[in-house]
Amino acid sequence: MIERRYYGEFGGAYIPEILVSTFDQLVKAFKEVKDDPDFWEEYVKIMSTYSCRPTPITFAENFTRHFGGARIYIKREDLNHTGAHKVNNVMGQGLLTKRMGKTRVIAETGAGQHGVATATMAAKYGFKCTIYMGEVDIARQSPNVFWMKRLGAEVIPVKDGARILKDAINAAFRDWVTNMDDTHYVLGTVCGPHPFPEIVSYFQSIIGKEARGQILEQEGKLPARVYACVGGGSNAVGIFSGFFNDPVELVGVEAGGKGLDTGHHASRLASKDGTIGVAQGYKTYFLQNSDGQMQETHSVAAGLDYVGVSPILASLREEGKVRFESATDQEVMDALSLALRKEGLVPALESAHAFAQAFKEAPDMGKDDVIMINQSGRGDKDIFTIADAYADPEWQKFIKEKAEEYCA
Ligand SMILES: *Cc1c(COP(=O)(O)O)cnc(C)c1O
Repeated sequence: MIERRYYGEFGGAYIPEILVSTFDQLVKAFKEVKDDPDFWEEYVKIMSTYSCRPTPITFAENFTRHFGGARIYIKREDLNHTGAHKVNNVMGQGLLTKRMGKTRVIAETGAGQHGVATATMAAKYGFKCTIYMGEVDIARQSPNVFWMKRLGAEVIPVKDGARILKDAINAAFRDWVTNMDDTHYVLGTVCGPHPFPEIVSYFQSIIGKEARGQILEQEGKLPARVYACVGGGSNAVGIFSGFFNDPVELVGVEAGGKGLDTGHHASRLASKDGTIGVAQGYKTYFLQNSDGQMQETHSVAAGLDYVGVSPILASLREEGKVRFESATDQEVMDALSLALRKEGLVPALESAHAFAQAFKEAPDMGKDDVIMINQSGRGDKDIFTIADAYADPEWQKFIKEKAEEYCA
């Protein structure tokens, strides 16, 4: 038993006895790579040759003129391979897997984005790959399931519980227990038992490191505020960590769903509905009832629809270092429309939460203030949801014709 790291009162590693030696091996392997400067260099090299890093920052002059307040910059994580920041984490954990001499990776996925990123990494590094996904999610996310399989991964439908993300996580842990020797579990966000929050935030810190240097170079000063959406919390912790020692206000934006007072949201820290508990191996704020049963969550953005939240963010909130807000589905759709029309940007629905909050605040800020929004991913994947929300008649006709073609 090496260590069970906490962030304030949050985090820890509440794991079955049988996994302790595997976790200790992982803690040790990660400590070694962290202390090895060549490892970070190897990681940066992979990311710059395989995934378009450093991703640029874009000055959004049309937003800036439109709102008439702060100067608005966008950090472009949407330009990564597989379309979001998730690749930063999976490529890093892939390198770690190689260092540990393991040959197989497993992962959980909800919306399917992390599954696709992991399957991509496994193809590139030559690992066997198994993805656990709830049956309900498989039915909702066909395109991602299609890509995972084409990339060579085995997708296992999880039939337990509500058959969604949390059940897929449990199934992945069960697999790991029986295959510890050759298998690494590539957890998808800054949650779960230690050392996962630390490992994932280490790899995602590449966003903040770049962003800080880029804004200093372009504006000659730090941003007044940085905005990021918060599902598990990995893109937020990634960009925020570049500014932890600076006088920069960090704003995390959760899914407000149909409104914080409706019960249909996924806001663990910005609403009053989140309470402290231990589940899935770690301690944090969860959306749960008084018996500790997990509640149903809702968001227009599948990637923000999760009952728990990073212990790192829970602790930073407690210390007053990150402010938490929420954006409703409607505010997010409006922000997305504006991003498309004004800047030609196509943010993922997740990322559009950060845009929505920045848009609420930018008009009241000074013209000399600079703010930065993390565009965690691109919205191409959301075409079905977005087209539904706009009730686009041409799209509906296209889908209907395709369906008829298949049924003929
Ligand atoms: C998965 C995902 C998120 C949510 O995950 P975090 O760990 O909170 O970053 C946000 N944006 C995009 C584009 C995603 O794919």
